[in-house]
Amino acid sequence: MSRTRVLILGGGYVGLYTALTLLRKAPDKVDITVLDRRPYMTYAPFLPEVGAGSIEPRHAVVPLRRELDGARILQGKVERIDHASRTVEATTDLGEVFAVEYDEIVIALGAVSRTLPVPGLAEFGIGFKYVEEAISLRNRVLGRIARAATTEDEDLRRKLLTFVFVGGGFAGVEAFAETEDMAKAALRYYPELSRDDLNFVMVEAMNRILPEMGPDMGAYTVEELERRGMRVLLETRLESCVDGHIVLSNGEAFEADTLVWTAGVKPSPVIQSSDLPLGPRGHVNTAATLQVIDEHGVPVRGAWAAGDCAQVPNLVEDEGDWCAPSAQHAVRQAKHLGRNLAAYLNGEPLTQYKHKHLGVVASLGLNKGVATTMGFKLRGWPAWVMHRTYHLLAIPTFNRKARVALDWTTALLFRRDLVSMGRIHEPRRAFEEAARS
Ligand SMILES: Cc1cc2nc3c(=O)[nH]c(=O)nc-3n(C[C@H](O)[C@H](O)[C@H](O)COP(=O)(O)OP(=O)(O)OC[C@H]3O[C@@H](n4cnc5c(N)ncnc54)[C@H](O)[C@@H]3O)c2cc1C
Repeated sequence: MSRTRVLILGGGYVGLYTALTLLRKAPDKVDITVLDRRPYMTYAPFLPEVGAGSIEPRHAVVPLRRELDGARILQGKVERIDHASRTVEATTDLGEVFAVEYDEIVIALGAVSRTLPVPGLAEFGIGFKYVEEAISLRNRVLGRIARAATTEDEDLRRKLLTFVFVGGGFAGVEAFAETEDMAKAALRYYPELSRDDLNFVMVEAMNRILPEMGPDMGAYTVEELERRGMRVLLETRLESCVDGHIVLSNGEAFEADTLVWTAGVKPSPVIQSSDLPLGPRGHVNTAATLQVIDEHGVPVRGAWAAGDCAQVPNLVEDEGDWCAPSAQHAVRQAKHLGRNLAAYLNGEPLTQYKHKHLGVVASLGLNKGVATTMGFKLRGWPAWVMHRTYHLLAIPTFNRKARVALDWTTALLFRRDLVSMGRIHEPRRAFEEAARS
């Protein structure tokens, strides 16, 4: 009997767990191909700690080839999905075009930063979704501190040490708080600078941060951050940031040298140009069975989707119409999708995805955090311990759990590493200088 060719687009949470489930549930029925730009799954909740130097970047990602023994891994950028002809077109990093044919497709392309047409943003801002962005932010912040310590120019120093974060969801707040914690720790090696020289500013359009945690935890977090000397500007929008000249809707204007944009996500743009049916917000329209459906709710043969790029109905009361974009949903949807696809291939009935959100944990730097879970609200050290315990259990594979646990232990014993590797972003510079001399 011929095997079904399953093509999984995206090797993030959904891609990894769908492939693992299919390999377990239908190993003799499927030939699985996973196509992603990156050869690894990124464990995004650890990015703030990667940026803060508490976790080694390589330990926050899961190598697909190692974990998906039995699946074919292709590295390339998906450019076009033509479901009518069951073909996907992609390009390699070198620009070569290749096509992959399939019988069943799983759309697991996740989301990208949702930007706004703010003057200067595309040129000056940096996102915070991928490990390369976390590494770059860390090197940038430490590099700016080193540069500020060597200048007598007060204006330049203030600009170098002004870090603006736009967007107060949990990813933004964690990145903001962890980065400040790292910058403060780095100051111990710079007697020329004091905490008052650091200027961390969060800009949030809504009247609260951490909306996922409820108003009181959001208010507590604002107080906690302000107690640490950070500024949280609520009901404020970024109007412009051309060349680092920040203009805010509250009338403030100042110079900054770093702007991190964490103001939400939108579905991967390649989906827009596909022939798959989309929901009103640009996601792939998906039933609770995780089959792609048309505008009449009829399943599109051979197409499945889950995670941040999919519009999955939320069957739990009082949690909104659609499942929120979160790792919690992505993992569970992926396993459900894998089981349903295996059932479909076996001619068995499909089941509906339903999951009650368990809560949110967020780290605000070493020994500091907030958590709301199953009716409980935790603050400070207990929340931070819960954050670490939860994510240590949640990161896939024993290998990664062990490496992250070792990173944390080493950082506790020897303090975290605070060396800037900014030159890593221009690896040919030393060689070019040597060749010219
Ligand atoms: C900083 C940060 C912290 C977070 N913390 C939490 C948390 O604490 N708890 C929580 O529940 N959620 C958290 N999230 C959200 C969570 O990470 C996402 O909801 C989850 O990753 C969604 O899984 P996914 O598989 O849909 O997408 P992803 O995991 O993003 O995977 C998508 C994959 O598709 C690939 N891809 C995209 N476009 C293309 C293309 N054109 N061609 C080829 N490959 C492509 C990407 O490389 C990626 O590997 C956090 C997110 C961020 C950014």
